Amino acid sequence: MPHILVVEDEPHLAMGLQFNLEADGHEVDAAADGETALRVLAEARVPFDAVVLDVMLPGKNGFEVTRALRERGDYVPILMLTARSRPEDVLLGFDAGVDDYLPKPFELAILLARVRSLLRRSAWARSAPPPERPPEIYRFAGNTFDPSTLELRVGTLPYHLTAMEADLLQYLLKNAGKVVSRKAILEDVWDLHEDTDTRAIDNFIVRLRRFLNEDPATPRHVVTVRGVGYRFVADPVDTDANGLG
Ligand code: CA
Repeated sequence: MPHILVVEDEPHLAMGLQFNLEADGHEVDAAADGETALRVLAEARVPFDAVVLDVMLPGKNGFEVTRALRERGDYVPILMLTARSRPEDVLLGFDAGVDDYLPKPFELAILLARVRSLLRRSAWARSAPPPERPPEIYRFAGNTFDPSTLELRVGTLPYHLTAMEADLLQYLLKNAGKVVSRKAILEDVWDLHEDTDTRAIDNFIVRLRRFLNEDPATPRHVVTVRGVGYRFVADPVDTDANGLG
């Protein structure tokens, strides 16, 4: 029996969804907020087959829940319930990684049909050979980086990085917020040793900053830590906005 998680904070709606999905032949659990949903999905002994996820939730909203799932490599099919059919919500949802959406209020029959369609698609996907490695996409400040294609997307502009640039960027992203020394970069990223000229790194840093439209004098993402190395800041505070406030 397909196992579905309903994530909805309004008790009446959650109960209605649970009742009707059960009547349609599914096993259903419910979570009233995003954090609970993430925990239930992580702890499930047998993975859930689909999630019906409301956008407006206390704490983490539906977009954040979806992004967190995709970032941890969980590709459970998600049907998102958007409060209004605002096009920006729909785009945000697809960008975060939802599979389908349904604006509220919805016809029950349509919801049940959409859930069945999601389950059918994931059954097809399961019968296909799995990918070599699940794709891992980094997102920061409206940009995305896909190490499998080496594509860095800054706003809407795509840049194709070299493998070495990509390795450095991925390392900085993985260690976001931490100071990484030039020595660590050489050894961990490129398997080079201390006696290598560290200026090589600085040239790569200059190129990454250029891709990210950084002002070399006041970089926001790739910050120099004097005498040590660098620190990647994923979500810099907008100093312009603060200064003008
Ligand atoms: Ca809600």
